[in-house]
Amino acid sequence: MGLFGNMTVNFCPLCGDKIGALGGQPLADGAVCAMCVQKFRAKSQADMSQLTIEQVNDIIEDTFENEITGKLCPVCGKPMDSSARPIADAIICSDCERMERIAYFITEEGDELDDLTLANVCEDYNLSEQRKKEALEKAPSDAISVGHIDESFADGKKAVILVAVAKGEFSEKDEVVLIHEDTAVTATIKMIHLARGESYEGYRDKFVSDTLAESDYGWIVFKDVSPEYTLGDYLYKR
Ligand SMILES: [Zn+2]
Ligand SMILES: [Zn+2]
Repeated sequence: MGLFGNMTVNFCPLCGDKIGALGGQPLADGAVCAMCVQKFRAKSQADMSQLTIEQVNDIIEDTFENEITGKLCPVCGKPMDSSARPIADAIICSDCERMERIAYFITEEGDELDDLTLANVCEDYNLSEQRKKEALEKAPSDAISVGHIDESFADGKKAVILVAVAKGEFSEKDEVVLIHEDTAVTATIKMIHLARGESYEGYRDKFVSDTLAESDYGWIVFKDVSPEYTLGDYLYKR
């Protein structure tokens, strides 16, 4: 047995080349060689670790893109492109993917999306749309931005409110009106974290302040506000 006799040699399932000693690019169900990663990157910036060998092959071969481009998302009805993503029994657009990542705290590395069915995603989407519609109906007609509140909690002396934007956008230093039951409170936004699939704790120390645009989800942080806001409350900006 030679010096490297215990080293296993792996071959790329796509092109058959040897995969280097570092093991190649991991996929959901295997690994591919550096050349195939380059071919893939020329077509897509998607996270390869979440895709299967077959999906990576489809993207390299363009069949996925050809199949998907121009088709409508079965959940929200928007036209899809190659950023669309397969779930258990369908392919959904990247906006719907993000909605589900946020709803279930599925991180970039997580592959729980593979287990979601179209029925699950449609149910979540319809519920979210319904809540945004209710917030729009309740807000004054001259409000330029309206958000539906999911929940709130305290972070030290700050109040953190999880918001889904129904209309317009919210930014740092905006003055907004918060409605809890029938009580209105005017407050200034201290900071905003756009939700991308991690829990609030995952973002808290990263000191970014984002803008929340229409159909975004995120945490809006206030000082001198009580964290009493619950599902069905809303906020708006004039
Ligand atoms: Zn290869
Ligand atoms: Zn969609």
